[in-house]
Amino acid sequence: MSKPRLVVVGNGMAGMRTVEELLALAPDLYDITVFGAEPHGNYNRILLSPVLAGEKEVDDIMLHRRAWYEQHGITLFAGEPVVAIDRPRRLVRAQSGREVRYDRLLLATGSQPFIVPVPGHTLDGVIAFRDLQDVETMLAAARQHRHAVVIGGGLLGLEAANGLLRRGMDVTVVHLGKTLMDRQLDQPAAALLQRTLEHRGLRILLGATTTEIVGKDRVEGVRFADGSAIAADLVVMTAGVRPNVALAQSAGLHCERAIVVDDTLQTFDPRIYAVGECVQHRRATFGLVAPIWEQARVCAAHLAGAGHRRYVQQATATRLKVSGVDLFSAGDIVGGEDSEDLVLRDPRRGIYKRLVLQQNRLVGAVLYGDVQDGPWYFDLIQQRTPVGALRQRLLFGKAQCDAIAA
Ligand SMILES: Cc1cc2nc3c(=O)[nH]c(=O)nc-3n(C[C@H](O)[C@H](O)[C@H](O)COP(=O)(O)OP(=O)(O)OC[C@H]3O[C@@H](n4cnc5c(N)ncnc54)[C@H](O)[C@@H]3O)c2cc1C
Repeated sequence: MSKPRLVVVGNGMAGMRTVEELLALAPDLYDITVFGAEPHGNYNRILLSPVLAGEKEVDDIMLHRRAWYEQHGITLFAGEPVVAIDRPRRLVRAQSGREVRYDRLLLATGSQPFIVPVPGHTLDGVIAFRDLQDVETMLAAARQHRHAVVIGGGLLGLEAANGLLRRGMDVTVVHLGKTLMDRQLDQPAAALLQRTLEHRGLRILLGATTTEIVGKDRVEGVRFADGSAIAADLVVMTAGVRPNVALAQSAGLHCERAIVVDDTLQTFDPRIYAVGECVQHRRATFGLVAPIWEQARVCAAHLAGAGHRRYVQQATATRLKVSGVDLFSAGDIVGGEDSEDLVLRDPRRGIYKRLVLQQNRLVGAVLYGDVQDGPWYFDLIQQRTPVGALRQRLLFGKAQCDAIAA
């Protein structure tokens, strides 16, 4: 008897993690076909930053090469984006015209970068930072040109800026907000980060609104709301992402900001599941891999027919992948009326720590300069451990707190 067919749309981190989890649970259950818009196997997107900075090679970041798909009997169509889903006939159609039928469909189409639609945004030399192609474009620009402007001072923007600086470019980060990484850092930590990055040679413009990208065929400069302008041979936009929902929407699947899924990662069509940055679960969308790994585990269990797991959202933690910069942020760093902060500052050693407590539990942490205890704080946040007895020593880390317990 032929096996049921599973078709995966999106050969990225979420889709392939789900397939890996599924193979571990039920290696022979499905006949699997994967469609990927990018023309290669699956790679670790997170490590594009170290590739750009010259700390890793493209080869080091490959997670699944073509041989892996062959070994597992998976048919891979790389470089063949899917353009339509015919739900009544249960088949997908790729841009190439290829059609493949499914019994179960997994959508893992990720996100696309938001390109700020200012005049000039389509000029040559204006790019995003999302895939290998973008890194190759940046590396080529760094060989031929001098001035780079990165629009967006979040995690991705700073990693792009650091990489381009390491490749010898003269780099300016342009950020709309008043402080860098404003979603993850509070003001004191952001100020320390800014000082370190400026010391390394980055130019940082805060509170700057880009109104135009100037140039004839290729970008030549960036103009701001106050009328000032700076030279640019390369503009990298890192101003957020938008979930890729067009395919799901055109197939009539229920989407809001992203493809709406339930606690089992099922869409409104029971034959179709979705995971990763393209999904919306209870109003939340996702931009980090930790929650996506958990989605993959739950979704794979249901695809394997062992579906008792439910996806539960957890706090997330972030680090900036700029070597020599130690920064950690987890959970709710804003707090509310009933929260209190514990703060440690040691300006000479460049250390700042802020812990946010609520009802005797740790709910958020920002660490700069000394991040050794980051994973421990993160664990306390996730486990909702009562920390009243540790309060006096909490800022000094796990070793000090263990000493009380001993
Ligand atoms: C430079 C960079 C650094 C990052 N650093 C971190 C980090 O330090 N920590 C962290 O947790 N996260 C980080 N992230 C985020 C992380 O990479 C993403 O959360 C993760 O890759 C999302 O996985 P995904 O499978 O949903 O999307 P993706 O990995 O983007 O995969 C989606 C794939 O689907 C393909 N696709 C889209 N539409 C179609 C279609 N119609 N047909 C076929 N294929 C299609 C896309 O081409 C893509 O290959 C980083 C991201 C970037 C870009």
